[in-house]
Amino acid sequence: MGEPASLVWLLSTGSKSDKEGWVNMSGICQQRVSRRQLLKGGLALAAGAVAFGPRSVLGEDRDECTRWAFLSDTHIAADPDHRYRGFYPYRNLQEIASQLSCDLPEGLVITGDLARLKGRPAAYANVKTLLTPLAEKRPVYLGLGNHDNREDFFRTFGDSRGSGEAVTNKHVIVADGGPVRLIILDTLHRINAIPGMLGWPQRTWLETYLRTCDDRPTILFLHHTPKVDLLDTGRLFRIIGPMTKVKAVVYGHTHHVKFSTYKGIHMINVPAAGFNLSDGHPVGWMEAKLTSRGGEFLLHAMGGNTRLNGLTTKLAWRS
Ligand SMILES: [Zn+2]
Repeated sequence: MGEPASLVWLLSTGSKSDKEGWVNMSGICQQRVSRRQLLKGGLALAAGAVAFGPRSVLGEDRDECTRWAFLSDTHIAADPDHRYRGFYPYRNLQEIASQLSCDLPEGLVITGDLARLKGRPAAYANVKTLLTPLAEKRPVYLGLGNHDNREDFFRTFGDSRGSGEAVTNKHVIVADGGPVRLIILDTLHRINAIPGMLGWPQRTWLETYLRTCDDRPTILFLHHTPKVDLLDTGRLFRIIGPMTKVKAVVYGHTHHVKFSTYKGIHMINVPAAGFNLSDGHPVGWMEAKLTSRGGEFLLHAMGGNTRLNGLTTKLAWRS
């Protein structure tokens, strides 16, 4: 409520020094980023414009490396002091936002279950409060999970459905990730019920989009676990399996971390930021360094099984 999304979520700035810092530190990212620096202002606006709507503005330099933060299952409640299994999700996201603000990534994606249980405007207001300092500097893309409420989400962050390209009653985003394309899909089926589904209109949109877009390596983001509780997994993979431009699917939902492959596509399970469901699972987020050839994924485990902190996984994209 209050200010339109554009005021909070469209602003972005970039500093040359922080960009150079991570480029030099990275094993996988060895090339200087120049296009992003040159076009930062314009791209930032473009990225902001698609933050809550499915519009794509992509750059032309495929040799660069980009660093992103991938989060899932923040589970923010209306009460900032809400505690579950010994974790304080509000404080966790506050800590992650603080870490990210000290070393800004190119952007942030959260793959759903933003809210504790059933959405609720007060929960989204807290999410917005915590993420606004980041969103003023970098694009922040928010997906929806089974514990989100699409109407409450739109009331807080702005409705993406009026853009003309939107999938009916779904929140879909196509984002510029520099050398990669990021597509955030919506698998929220029924609020507070475990299974998820893309649905025919969204699958049809995705198939049409993928057939007509350029061959830039593409990463899909969704909340639910393919093969386990994404009800239309088979139909999705019949579309994306043969489309070699689709390199990876990033998902959350399990509150655990896992790397696997299915139909030739990398499956990347991002940990929960809010709380784990088993003591052996970490709580935290994933740092992703992405190029047109592959990705390097670094686990930041802040709670739960912190022995996994620093776990690095390198993946090469299929050709
Ligand atoms: Zn969850």
